[in-house]
Amino acid sequence: MTDQQTKMKILAKQFGDIKKLKNMAAFFPDKKNPFLWHVSFKGPEDSEFQEGIYHCQLNLANYPDKPPEVMVLNQSGAYEPNTLICIVGLTHYHPEGWTPGTSIEAIITALSMIMQLKSDRSGIGMIGTLNSSDIKKYAAKSKEYTCTCGADHTKLFK
Ligand SMILES: [Zn+2]
Repeated sequence: MTDQQTKMKILAKQFGDIKKLKNMAAFFPDKKNPFLWHVSFKGPEDSEFQEGIYHCQLNLANYPDKPPEVMVLNQSGAYEPNTLICIVGLTHYHPEGWTPGTSIEAIITALSMIMQLKSDRSGIGMIGTLNSSDIKKYAAKSKEYTCTCGADHTKLFK
């Protein structure tokens, strides 16, 4: 198991890495809990989600030894809002498929890419059938989204 001090170093490094990106932004919803993160991310390019900005919560208490608990908080049309998502190799439902060292950036990138996946949407937290008009409606709405963590989508990624 990774000790607490190493864990904090890894998370600090990853927070810094995400800060440099133009399509993700990380926040702490609870200033006393460094393992709870919120991350806003842009929808995958060249997809119906590309105009959207989605906001997810990661519980990194067991990271990097085990995958985080991940849920998307706002509506996307791809993931059930506020529901822990099952993605093999990336989220806590499947610790056996986890590769220690998988970066948070890589997890969010996968979360974004998987939104547009049309086949096998049977996982927990995934909306079974993608509906174009819902996706477009939610993408437009997502640009107005704000969260108590400080995320304000009207100001992000300009
Ligand atoms: Zn938030």
